[in-house]
Amino acid sequence: MTQRYQTILLFGAPGAGKGTQGKILGQIPGFYHLSCGEVFRTLDVSSRLGRIFQEYSSRGELVPDDVTVDMWCENMHARTILSEYKPYVDLLVLDGIPRNVKQAKLLEKHIQVLKVVHLVCPDKEAMIQRLRRRALKENRVDDAKEDVIRRRWDIYEKETAPVLAYYDKFIVRTVDAMGSPASVLQHILEVVVPVQEQHFRNPLAGAADAKVRAAKSPPAESAKSNGKTNGKTNGKSHPPAGARLTKGKASSRD
Ligand code: ADP
Repeated sequence: MTQRYQTILLFGAPGAGKGTQGKILGQIPGFYHLSCGEVFRTLDVSSRLGRIFQEYSSRGELVPDDVTVDMWCENMHARTILSEYKPYVDLLVLDGIPRNVKQAKLLEKHIQVLKVVHLVCPDKEAMIQRLRRRALKENRVDDAKEDVIRRRWDIYEKETAPVLAYYDKFIVRTVDAMGSPASVLQHILEVVVPVQEQHFRNPLAGAADAKVRAAKSPPAESAKSNGKTNGKTNGKSHPPAGARLTKGKASSRD
């Protein structure tokens, strides 16, 4: 049976600030941020996948779904193998995926979506200004041209916005994206901190917890609990007691 990554989705139009907020969240112990666009941008442009990405992103279009989801799965797998992302310790914060309902369905067997944070920006022109500023700062080809930005917005409205309705409305939370980064962060934290605390123990207390548990349990039991950590005996990768990965097709609603 597959184990699903416990996940928060950062959702919103291009320029809403998903990347900015995701990066900050990713700095907090117990959260692991992954931006799908960032992963695409790190691909070697001379590789087959890198060329596919360039072709689509330069037009402001989405990379085909099967290519995207396969690439995402392989990337996530590599990160878990390297223990960069520890599914038992960290709440996964995804931004930029799923970008349409087909991707949401394809991801269903890999992620359990606990909350969707919808960054809302009623002022489309303000968002477009943000994208233009970013294009200058970060040398982003996809945001350099006005027509490409507008195309990205059209695709967001047609293909990505319907993803919100795919998830149970009780797990979707709306956050105003127009405030300062700190105030937007404050509102996002109000949503995600309780989820992190409910599903994972405080990662900084994890090592101490593990020692206390090991001291209390007989050797056979602590050996068994080591076995749950994908065969790793290194104390760092012990799952905190409060952490759980969902097995199989359990409901993605909380
Ligand atoms: P932004 O957050 O500004 O919308 P991203 O950095 O997420 O942009 O994505 C940049 C480009 O990468 C997209 O325009 C698209 O071509 C490609 N891309 C990123 N994520 C996906 C995805 N989930 N599905 C298909 N294409 C994607």
